[in-house]
Amino acid sequence: MHKIIFFGPPGAGKGTQAKLISQEFKLPHLSTGDILRNKLLDNDNLAKELKQIMSSGNLVSDNILNSIVESRLKNETTNGFILDGYPRTLQQSEFLENILLNSSNSIDYIFNIQINFEILKNRILKRSSEESREDDNIDVIQTRYNEYLNSTQKVSDFYKDKYPSIFYELDGSLQIDEITQKIIQILKKSWKSAKILNISSWLSVWLSCIHPHSFPRDFMARISGVNIPTNKKVNIALTYIFGIGNKTAVDICTNASIDITKRVSELNDSEINKIRDLIDNDYTVEGDLRRKVSLDIKRLNDLGCYRGLRHRKKLPVRGQRTHTNARTRKGKAVAIAGKKKVTKG
Ligand code: AMP
Repeated sequence: MHKIIFFGPPGAGKGTQAKLISQEFKLPHLSTGDILRNKLLDNDNLAKELKQIMSSGNLVSDNILNSIVESRLKNETTNGFILDGYPRTLQQSEFLENILLNSSNSIDYIFNIQINFEILKNRILKRSSEESREDDNIDVIQTRYNEYLNSTQKVSDFYKDKYPSIFYELDGSLQIDEITQKIIQILKKSWKSAKILNISSWLSVWLSCIHPHSFPRDFMARISGVNIPTNKKVNIALTYIFGIGNKTAVDICTNASIDITKRVSELNDSEINKIRDLIDNDYTVEGDLRRKVSLDIKRLNDLGCYRGLRHRKKLPVRGQRTHTNARTRKGKAVAIAGKKKVTKG
């Protein structure tokens, strides 16, 4: 079961890839562009309004898109899905996060297809002659590209920041089948490792039934959904779980009466279970923690308070000096040519 989002500027090939991957893995392909183009055939007032917006290259309102996607996802989240063309604004991405949160689901893969504007322009013009889409002419292409830069790129950046481990950048200037192969490779690889993981955990349970505590943990130890390294000391290995730092890791070991100089491979099943239980009962980690953080930030944003505004501007929230530092959040300093120094007198 895969839940996938495709990002990329118009013409980058996300629709083509989404279609091919949907056939390969038998996943429902939700293309908001296709759904809207189908709606245009109705010829009612809404269709006329949509036609005007889409043929100018602008984005259709968030409310319309959110309700379309919500109703489709209700029926299709269980078997996985491919989202193509959604979310395109930060408001849509928040909406999607909430739908998934409410159905205890999450996205598994995000593919961002990158391509430069010149290649893209030629591609869209070629497509317009083949598919006669009204939104494929030079002026509209420019508007659609600007919409992408102003809205959608911020959404993909948001996902890249939030879920770096499932975010894959792809080069859109490659041949179609080269890109498809890369995507299939990524999807099959993790599917295989999930399968190996299942077999190994089944083996682990079976062996521990024969002789409890005898099974050497030499190839994996899975805690809170994370495979922690087995060759490292316990207190270091635990910090591989999002939400557990050095101090918490040592606290967990102390509470579980485990010597922190032991390596994970030297732990027996009951020790691993003790750690698992402690983390499950007393700490918020991984997906739950990520969701909590994003809801907290959303609440601050909605309140419009100082910390919310600072989050929105991607600046430090706790009063740090930002004139010369805060480079992690603000990015690299850019020199402004010709800026004169203030002189006295
Ligand atoms: P696409 O086929 O994905 O390039 O979409 C074609 C057009 O449909 C876009 O230029 C928008 O006008 C509209 N559209 C598709 N998806 C969305 C979305 N998620 N939000 C707003 N407008 C959308």
